[in-house]
Amino acid sequence: MTDCLFCKFVSGEIPVNPVYEDDSVLAFNDINPQAPVHFLVIPKIHFRNLTDAAESDPELVGSLLATGARIAKELGISDSGYRVVLNANEDAGQTVFHLHAHFLGKRKFLWPPG
Ligand code: AMP
Ligand code: ZN
Repeated sequence: MTDCLFCKFVSGEIPVNPVYEDDSVLAFNDINPQAPVHFLVIPKIHFRNLTDAAESDPELVGSLLATGARIAKELGISDSGYRVVLNANEDAGQTVFHLHAHFLGKRKFLWPPG
């Protein structure tokens, strides 16, 4: 998608420092971290959000989360714990409309979320 920030990361039009990359997924640190560890995992294909991706390619959603879990382990936040957030549309506060999973760690998180 031409006017999508995260698609520009995937295409290389805007440089990004990947935490992890493979054929289908890219992970990078959030520019405005909400925890000492805060990275995003995105599919290389553009989907607006989880709803669209789950309809079109549910296996990709699974591999997105599994990849994030592997990265979380490599970054040493698995044992202490981490929060995964997928914001979908306005009420959730989604601001970038290219599916992304937030992985946050190295601090305590409240439940229920605010
Ligand atoms: P969401 O509110 O779930 O759509 O989250 C979008 C996330 O993208 C926010 O946490 C932003 O801080 C993050 N973000 C926006 N621009 C960039 C960027 N250039 N590099 C890395 N993360 C970004
Ligand atoms: Zn996109």
